[in-house]
Amino acid sequence: MKVKLEYIWLDGYTPEPNLRSKTKIWEYDPLIHPSMHPKRTIAANGRIIPTHEELPTWSFDGSSTKQAEGNDSDCILKPVRVIMDPQRLDAFLVLCEVYSASGVPHSSNKRHDLIDDEQYWFGLEQEYILTANGKPLGFPSEGYPAPQGEYYCGIGSTNVAGRDIVEEHLQVCLEAGLNITGVNAEVMIGQWEYQLFAEGPKKAADDLWLSRYLLSRITERYEVKVDLTPKLVDGDWNGSGLHINFSSDLMREVGGKELFSSICEEFGEYHDAHIAVYGSGNDKRLTGEHETQRIDKFTYGISDRGASIRVPVSTLTNDWKGYLEDRRPASNADPYLLTGRVFETLTHVERSFRTIEV
Ligand code: ADP
Ligand code: MN
Ligand code: MN
Ligand code: MN
Repeated sequence: MKVKLEYIWLDGYTPEPNLRSKTKIWEYDPLIHPSMHPKRTIAANGRIIPTHEELPTWSFDGSSTKQAEGNDSDCILKPVRVIMDPQRLDAFLVLCEVYSASGVPHSSNKRHDLIDDEQYWFGLEQEYILTANGKPLGFPSEGYPAPQGEYYCGIGSTNVAGRDIVEEHLQVCLEAGLNITGVNAEVMIGQWEYQLFAEGPKKAADDLWLSRYLLSRITERYEVKVDLTPKLVDGDWNGSGLHINFSSDLMREVGGKELFSSICEEFGEYHDAHIAVYGSGNDKRLTGEHETQRIDKFTYGISDRGASIRVPVSTLTNDWKGYLEDRRPASNADPYLLTGRVFETLTHVERSFRTIEV
């Protein structure tokens, strides 16, 4: 049968890349069952998903995506992950890495060097603002809506805007097999959040890009834009973050106040290196107001939503076992750089902690 493959990749724009995609029609034998083809998996709807290894590479015009010069424009798309595309008949979404024509990972390919290790768990809280005609949904055409207060987790037509899109996105992500664990209306009207959980820094980042892809594609039909600017509206209006909750075997199973303090201290040591990959324009958001710590300051604290890192109260009551929440990342951060950086600092402190213990 013929199936539609949507090849998805990240372009060469800086400081943050954009998602791009194009459709390839591919001849597929869906009757080859995973029992005969062990790497194939079965989707929630019973469909058999091809593996990324059996899909062909493809090329695109890198001169149109800031990834090549016009006189030598071919770049290569190498499939790395395949999921269901619930919004099209007989279709799959194919996340790709970009390679240069000579076969080496392209300089814009931040995924290639990312290590995957499934004992490292990530819960990403993606905040975003839905806008139309350059204004957040729910904002009047002139001026401002009522001050913040009743919008967070609010209901009612004067308190929320864009719920149809949020619901559709939630449903589509679940059908695609992306592990969204919750959604909520945020502090500013038109601002929303979803939480995505995954095991392994690479999988967590892949899933977040795919969930962003689906969100942007859904909003096309509503003539609405997904805005990931960290501080879109000046003044007493919340910015948008990408809180990263993380844990490891050691944090979940061994734990201890000392371990958690060491991790937080180490994250403080590398504050600048983290901020460097936590999204552009984050200085406008991390002001010390609106549930943030200042960008030039690092603090951590139990239940403290004004700290850089929050120790969830459950970690404390669970005998210092559990996870931490780094609240610094901005909504527009590249999740490959984000989970990669957290993984690097965390594994660094864990290595020294294990050495001390022995
Ligand atoms: P809040 O808004 O209070 O900061 P949320 O409920 O929005 O919290 O997000 C919490 C996130 O933490 C969820 O994505 C959840 O999956 C994640 N999480 C929970 N336990 C762990 C853990 N052990 N390791 C990593 N992430 C976790
Ligand atoms: Mn949240
Ligand atoms: Mn939030
Ligand atoms: Mn949070």
